[in-house]
Parts: sequence; C-alpha cells; structure tokens
Amino acid sequence: MEQTERKQYDAIVIGGGPGGYECAIRLRQNGLSAALVEKDKLGGTCLNRGCIPTKTMLHSADVYAQALGGEKFGIKAGNVSFDYGAIIARKDAVAGQLSQGVAFLEKSWGVDVYQASARVKSASCVELSSGETLECRHLILATGSEPARIPIPGVELPGVVDSTGLMQLVECPEHIVIVGGGVIGIEFATFFVKLGVKVTIVEMLDRILGPLDKSISDFLTRDLKKKGVELILGVKVKAIEEGLKVLYEKVDGSLEGCAEGDVVLLAGGRAVNTKGFGLEEIGIELDRRGIVAVDEYCRTGVEGVYAIGDINAKMQLAHVASAQGLLVADHIAGKACRPLN
Ligand SMILES: Cc1cc2nc3c(=O)[nH]c(=O)nc-3n(C[C@H](O)[C@H](O)[C@H](O)COP(=O)(O)OP(=O)(O)OC[C@H]3O[C@@H](n4cnc5c(N)ncnc54)[C@H](O)[C@@H]3O)c2cc1C
Repeated sequence: MEQTERKQYDAIVIGGGPGGYECAIRLRQNGLSAALVEKDKLGGTCLNRGCIPTKTMLHSADVYAQALGGEKFGIKAGNVSFDYGAIIARKDAVAGQLSQGVAFLEKSWGVDVYQASARVKSASCVELSSGETLECRHLILATGSEPARIPIPGVELPGVVDSTGLMQLVECPEHIVIVGGGVIGIEFATFFVKLGVKVTIVEMLDRILGPLDKSISDFLTRDLKKKGVELILGVKVKAIEEGLKVLYEKVDGSLEGCAEGDVVLLAGGRAVNTKGFGLEEIGIELDRRGIVAVDEYCRTGVEGVYAIGDINAKMQLAHVASAQGLLVADHIAGKACRPLN
C-alpha cells in the first residue's frame, strides 16, 4: 500500500490561543519550521470567549454609563438607551476581525496552520481529524481551558449559562445571579450593573476575588455595593430549581436562602483541556484536575514535549500564556532565556 508522505516540522503547536499562536510565530522568527493546529477559531479563549469579548462589552457599558451621567459634565445626550443585541454583535465583529488578524500574522511568518482537532500519537507524531499525520522534533501543548461545570442539580436548566453561553445571549437579563465571585464573575457583574441590571453574586469564600490582595477585594466590594450589587458571601450553592432559584446554605450548614434571577451565570473556575487526545497515553503527567506538571522551562516529563498556558495552571492569564510560548520557542531554538519563577 502506498504510504502518504508525512509533513515534518521542527515543532508542532497544538492550540491557537495566546500561548500557541505567539509560540508558533516566535519559532519561525527563530528560523524553525512550525505547524499550528487549531480545532476552532484562532485566538482561543482570550480572543473569542474571554479577554477581548468581555472588554468590548465593558466598553459599551462604559459608554452607556457615561452618556447617562454626561449632564454634570455639560453633555446632553437626550434619551439614552442601549441595544443589547447590537452590543453583542459589535463584540462578535471585534473578535472576528482580531481572529482574522492572527491568521494573517501566522501566514506572514510562514506558520502552517491546520484547522483540525489534534490527537497526540507520540512525542513526535500528531494525527489530525482532517486525516493528515504530522511529525516533529518538539511538541508544544497549548490546549487551554473551558468553563468548569459545577456539580449541582439544575445546571442544565434553560437560562443557566457559563461565561461562553452568557456572551451569546442576545437579550439583556433583568436580574442575573452570578455563582462565583472570582475575576470572571466580578467582570460580568461590573458589566451588567452599569447597564442597570440587578446583580446578585453568590460566593463560597467570605470575600470576593479570594486569591487577590485583600485591599483589592475590599475596594471592589465597596464599589460594587455602592453600585447596587448584592453580595451573598460565605455560602455554598446546593441546587438551582425551576424559575431559576439558586438555593444556598452557609458553609457550616447553618443558614439557607435563595437568590432568584432570570439568568444564572456559573462562574466557578476553569477546567483544563488535557483529556481525550492522547496525553496520558504517551506518559504526560496530569494531576487530579488534569493540570500538566511542568518545570521552569515548561517541559513536561516526556522528552521534547512542552505544555504552556492555562493547561499548566501556573497563572491562567493570556499574557502569561504568551510569555510561556515565547520562552519555549526560545528554549527550543537554544537561545538563552529566563526560566519561570
Ligand atoms: C470571560 C473571560 C475573561 C478573561 N479575561 C482575561 C483578561 O482580561 N486578561 C487575561 O490575561 N486573561 C483573561 N482570561 C483568561 C485567558 O483567556 C486565558 O488565560 C488564555 O486564553 C489562555 O491561553 P491558552 O493559549 O493557554 O489557551 P486558550 O486561549 O484556551 O486556547 C486554547 C486553544 O486550543 C484549542 N484546542 C484545544 N484542544 C485542541 C485539540 N485537541 N486540537 C486542536 N486545538 C485544540 C482550543 O480550541 C483553543 O482555541 C479570560 C478568560 C475568560 C473565560
């Protein structure tokens, strides 16, 4: 039987988010051949479902709030209102344009981009859902994360959404209940309260933004309360019932209560994308949450395989993913580079 020719690369990057797309370009800048495999849209979570769409929506909310309060600055804007569908359409247009920009950059730098789902066969061989098989000397995993499912009854009810689902709603809620007072929950609370939506945050810890400095948490607590956001802290959500009633109890089991809205956002963290495409089969070490163990150069325990960005969970932020992508591309090219702390 005739053997189809397999394309060979110095490096294959799986995942076209801010970690992967930056890494692929830097590999080319370092004179190495590179393939970038992305199953969805280039730009990953950050550009399509994360940083960029939320900032675009926040900007719309800021413009609205400023127009409403413009009179004290001598600006009269008449009857100010917003068109929620248009806010979402603008967000989609901005993300679409930036994703095309990433495609253009990859092409200009000579990165071979494959629109496919990748499956790792070995440290040097990747199979694509399109039927091709690619070979490489170095493999970079940059498959990112997705919203974590909270294991409670009722999460499947209509109107219960995660951050990705929320950004697709074309109608503005009247009252949103946000389960989780972390960065994502607080960002959406800020957006909706500026549009005049009633916002309730239900958080398990006794303060919002738990991992951040207490002074930041205190400042934002005061600010959100001043704007009318209801904060229910130190409670655990037990279930969501029909009519979108979010049932909660105190962490010590003492008090029960219910917050009711027409949309419930589940913002309880992120789950890494490391299962189901061959990583464990080739011996990549994952912890119980699926996080990949890496050293200070983002090397996994398997020779030639690196893991960057959200999947190593050093810090799940876009610029951290990008910085790790650049570090790895330089490390592979044999350049002097500063290891991670
Ligand atoms: C609502 C929200 C707001 C955020 N705001 C900010 C912010 O303001 N600032 C900030 O720094 N960070 C922010 N983040 C976090 C940021 O988006 C992530 O840290 C960042 O996107 C991680 O980059 P990554 O390259 O590791 O992965 P991702 O961006 O998740 O990209 C991974 C890519 O891999 C692809 N993929 C997965 N599996 C495969 C496979 N088997 N084959 C092919 N392709 C695959 C996916 O389709 C995806 O495109 C936000 C996140 C969210 C959800």
